[in-house]
Amino acid sequence: MDVRPDTVVRLEYVLRVDGDVVDATPEGETVSVLYGHATTLPTGLEGVLLGREPGPFREVVPPELGAGRHDPAKVMAVGREELPAGSVEVGEQFYAQDEKGSPVTARVVGVEGERVILDTNPEFAGKALEYTGVIHDIREATPGEISHGHVHGEGGVQH
Ligand code: ZN
Repeated sequence: MDVRPDTVVRLEYVLRVDGDVVDATPEGETVSVLYGHATTLPTGLEGVLLGREPGPFREVVPPELGAGRHDPAKVMAVGREELPAGSVEVGEQFYAQDEKGSPVTARVVGVEGERVILDTNPEFAGKALEYTGVIHDIREATPGEISHGHVHGEGGVQH
């Protein structure tokens, strides 16, 4: 059986960006997901899994299929006084609104005196996402799981 919508997939994975581990299932643990429904998988991993059979995998997801291209227009300079009081350091995050009023996360990517450079692109925009991992098993989802939109039993919701 291979991974497709309405299957339950139990897997472990590691996500590396620029060679650094940025997300992973806890050592020795697996996650079970109801494929094709709202899952908690990180960006791009659904596409990596589709059509695969149990076993190890490794795939590099290009930015277009991951967090998207990095948009220079989403990098902006603001005055230090426009941000909450306190120290402002590179890597810090603020919650703000874009021009349409949608919530966005702004990361501090530079501090130049009284000017702070913010980037509201998704965190890994423009980056290749390197996934490695192991698909442990795949099974058909039950009708109850499909109607609830989540996994029941081991690794899922107990009810
Ligand atoms: Zn349920």
